[in-house]
Amino acid sequence: MIVLDAVSKWYPSGIRPALSDVSAEIGAGEFVFLVGPSGSGKSTLLRLLLREERASSGQVVVAGQDVARIPDRRVPRLRRTVGCVFQDYRLLPNRTVAANVAFALDVIGRPRHVVRSIVPEALELVGLGEKAQSYPDELSGGEQQRVAIARAFVGRPRVLLADEPTGNLDPTTSIEIMHLLDAIHQAGTTVLMATHNAALVDAMRRRVLELSDGTLVRDEARGGYDT
Ligand code: ADP
Ligand code: ADP
Repeated sequence: MIVLDAVSKWYPSGIRPALSDVSAEIGAGEFVFLVGPSGSGKSTLLRLLLREERASSGQVVVAGQDVARIPDRRVPRLRRTVGCVFQDYRLLPNRTVAANVAFALDVIGRPRHVVRSIVPEALELVGLGEKAQSYPDELSGGEQQRVAIARAFVGRPRVLLADEPTGNLDPTTSIEIMHLLDAIHQAGTTVLMATHNAALVDAMRRRVLELSDGTLVRDEARGGYDT
């Protein structure tokens, strides 16, 4: 589902590459943690998969598409295939919870009647059926992340990327969010989650990719946070 072939990335201002000769394959339906210290290249890797950045060399393939070669007009279709959630939720503050989720569907051109039926389903799925008409600032951090996950998943992407999704959450809430991402994985979605949360990685014992200074230093089938 994801192929990285000798991928390197230099930012124009960088004195060293953010990613250096990274190769890995992630199959359909896998759940993979991406770990490594701050600045090791995790976000850069996720941005390449979303075509928010382009690789300086090497090839990035997502769902059979060479991401660098996708014409700009087809990038929205890539974003339909790849959902993502972030540490800071990135909800629209002056829109209701339902409107935030609906927005993701409007953007990809789903008809209004479809939006009306699947937004409530997506909110039920994340346990927020009652909060459809609330605004983000009326919700806890964990609830806001649930909304972000509903928004990322409502279009049924084949791949879900999560960049430090529990970074602003307490341990109990982090476990709840982890269970939600795991449920999305169980539903057949390929999940790649960048995280510093050692307790979660150690508890889940899933495949772990570890970056250090832009280099892939570990690819372990059932790893912990530190080996
Ligand atoms: P991580 O997500 O693991 O913290 P990043 O991918 O954000 O790592 O950063 C990897 C390296 O690339 C770091 O040295 C960082 O300073 C650099 N970097 C990230 N984004 C940019 C950017 N937009 N411009 C220049 N350098 C960047
Ligand atoms: P506005 O007042 O700016 O129209 P709304 O929150 O009323 O904002 O609606 C914005 C979008 O969200 C519309 O596409 C609407 O269909 C959708 N929407 C709002 N509430 C719901 C809901 N409970 N279920 C499904 N879609 C909703």
